[in-house]
Amino acid sequence: MPLIDNMQPEDLYRIQVRELADYAMFMIDTHGTLLSWNAGVERLFGYTEEEWIGKNGAIIFTPSENAEEVFGSEMQKARETGTSTDIRWHLRKDKSEFFANGFMNLVTDENGEALGYAKIVSDETARKRLQDSLTESNAALEQFAWVASHDLQEPLRTMGAFSQLLARNYAGRLDDEADRILSFIVKAASRMKSLVEDLLAYARITTEVERPASVALDEDLETAITHLSQAVLASGARVTHDALPTVHADRGQMVRLFQNLVGNALKYRKPDEPPTVHIAAQRNGPEWLFSVRDNGIGFDPRYASLIFAPFKRLHSSAEYPGTGVGLAICSRIVTTHGGRIWAESAPGDGSTFFFTLPVDGGTPPPRALRIDLPPGLDESPHGPDPRT
Ligand code: ADP
Repeated sequence: MPLIDNMQPEDLYRIQVRELADYAMFMIDTHGTLLSWNAGVERLFGYTEEEWIGKNGAIIFTPSENAEEVFGSEMQKARETGTSTDIRWHLRKDKSEFFANGFMNLVTDENGEALGYAKIVSDETARKRLQDSLTESNAALEQFAWVASHDLQEPLRTMGAFSQLLARNYAGRLDDEADRILSFIVKAASRMKSLVEDLLAYARITTEVERPASVALDEDLETAITHLSQAVLASGARVTHDALPTVHADRGQMVRLFQNLVGNALKYRKPDEPPTVHIAAQRNGPEWLFSVRDNGIGFDPRYASLIFAPFKRLHSSAEYPGTGVGLAICSRIVTTHGGRIWAESAPGDGSTFFFTLPVDGGTPPPRALRIDLPPGLDESPHGPDPRT
């Protein structure tokens, strides 16, 4: 037995490839004939070296009716572009199937003429099954939340309407205690209505038909600010923003994201100071980093992750109305678009909410733009457009 450090590099290389059992590695000629074998081929596909070599590579594709076509287009892609990836179910010798991730590389001579293909395949069945079961249970949960909140609306509406009727028609005809109890029922029904509506909105984020398109976030932010114009004017807020990029996203969801974050910045303001809110964007490698900064009441940073869970609130609804679903919706929107969201704050010191979105053919902002909102000074609810 030769010592391993005395062996020639070619032998070492051959042993390395041949003995590798976790990955099937093999060569294919330009007609699709299998030329070489390693231990991984037997482990993944079930063929011995004798059974494998000389066969057509289409034997590993499924369904068999179009195996040759699939194999042919894989080779063609590798011929045209140099490589081809192939993530799909594959066929074993015993006709069972496994989910594989395959990578094919074109092999050429020194003149660039195709000699054949090198292929490497890994078994991803366990990962695929886990992913499928997670997707399934997520979909089932979403469906459940949607149905539950949707079906709860009807009896709630009836309850709300009748308790209001009772309170109106019988006010002063019962005793004080009964009036007080009735007003509690009316308030509770209306709060439950808001909770159910928000829960439904939350469940809808991923079940509603996605309409991703190239969206200019400047426009979405301005739409959101327009929706908030009453709160902006009432609070004397000053909302400014950098020029925002264009991203590939669902327009309605982007408006909702900005509306929830800017809306919170206006809501959680200090009683004695008009709110100032600034929305910034900067490119950070493959993603955009956005921030929504306010000068409001802030919160204890220990709860910075908790507030993104549904129904979690740090402030009482008597002081600050709300259901605690707004940030959970923001978090869902951002994660379904491939980004992350988090917050930084200190009590009495304002808050900054950050989120990222992947750069997708977006262009960096050309220059910083600001939109100031002196209340009521312009016919537009959020002041003159500085770009005009
Ligand atoms: P809601 O505003 O309906 O309570 P959210 O999910 O939007 O629900 O927010 C969750 C909690 O996070 C709020 O109840 C509040 O305690 C805290 N919060 C959110 N935004 C801010 C902010 N800009 N400043 C201070 N606290 C905030």
